[in-house]
Amino acid sequence: MGSLLRPVDLVNQPLGFQERYKILQKLFKQLQKAYSHTNRSNIDLERLATRLEVHVARNSLSGQSYKFNMSILLRDVLKYKGDLSKIKVNGRPLKGGKPHSYSNSNIGTITTKSKAMEALKALVHDVKALEKNGYTVKETQNETSDDNNTQLYASCLRCSTNFKKTDIMEKTLCRYHPLKRMYNRETKNHQYPCCGETTDSVSFLRLGCKTFFHHVFRGESYDDLCKISKFSSTEDMDGVENVLSLDCEMAFTSLGYEMIRLTIVDFFTGKTLFDHVIQPIGDIVDLNSDFSGVHEIDRTNCPTYKEALNVFLSGNLINKNSILIGHGLENDLNVMRLFHNKVIDTAILYSKTKFKVSLKNLAFEVLSRKIQNGEHDSSQDAIATMDVVKVKIGISPSQNNWDQ
Ligand SMILES: [Zn+2]
Ligand SMILES: [Zn+2]
Repeated sequence: MGSLLRPVDLVNQPLGFQERYKILQKLFKQLQKAYSHTNRSNIDLERLATRLEVHVARNSLSGQSYKFNMSILLRDVLKYKGDLSKIKVNGRPLKGGKPHSYSNSNIGTITTKSKAMEALKALVHDVKALEKNGYTVKETQNETSDDNNTQLYASCLRCSTNFKKTDIMEKTLCRYHPLKRMYNRETKNHQYPCCGETTDSVSFLRLGCKTFFHHVFRGESYDDLCKISKFSSTEDMDGVENVLSLDCEMAFTSLGYEMIRLTIVDFFTGKTLFDHVIQPIGDIVDLNSDFSGVHEIDRTNCPTYKEALNVFLSGNLINKNSILIGHGLENDLNVMRLFHNKVIDTAILYSKTKFKVSLKNLAFEVLSRKIQNGEHDSSQDAIATMDVVKVKIGISPSQNNWDQ
């Protein structure tokens, strides 16, 4: 298997993504040399390379200073045989001899269910934090949702063309970049990591390296969401206290953005309690297979959205006492049309700024686990998110048996 090394996404980078990628590869090779006398694993060194590179990228004001700082780092890593306490970036030693790390040295300190519950409850966000992070909170929504508030036109999420929502199934040409552009401080322009095109390029590829025959949109407002299906609240659903990690895959349909797969995993047993491809309500425009990992939906055998809802709500799987774990769970709860306030969101837990850390980076940093190399898998993602929380509070991801 080839190296899956990849620079951490930064909104504001000192240099283009491709150039960072090349330098990161170099750094990894250099670390392999520097640590060749030890038995550090490649994945461990990949993590270290990623962390060192993003540290330099954050602490370099220009592309030039980034290149300079990286050349010093490449030299010193070998010179000091990987002794990080001797290494300086921009003249400053790395904090505590180490770049920022998420690892927890207290793994295994919690082995009873009651202690785990205590620690989990301490992580549950208050309603204000949820609102601030874009959650649809029941208290602030007025129940009147009438058709007048929903827009006739939408802006395509991919190419920004304005189009009439009712025309969405008619064929047209949509040209776009699948990955978000990033700023390059050296050239002062934006670059698309998918293909390397820049916003000031004269090539027609600047407009997009991919084409599709429909535009896509995503209803963002509460009224838009309610138009597909009304929200239910878990408030009046009684049930046992449980802790569930969940993740949805979504696709573009004639009605906007809908859930097409849902995975629910139990925190204490690690067992998958629900994992199904789900029929959306609207007609499918794009399954987004490159991301969703879902390639077809069997309209006769897959549960419909309503049937799925019945299973996890009427069965009291998700109830008012549930603690739900997710990464950017506001998106999942929105496509499930669910109000629920007891939430632990790893994107909130691990992000200090508005720019949220990706689950892919978090899994790599915290768990040394590579996920989302290519298509996403809601089962893999739900488990990774749960394990990130376990490590956060000092539980080994492999622990499935508990003292009371
Ligand atoms: Zn592109
Ligand atoms: Zn479009």
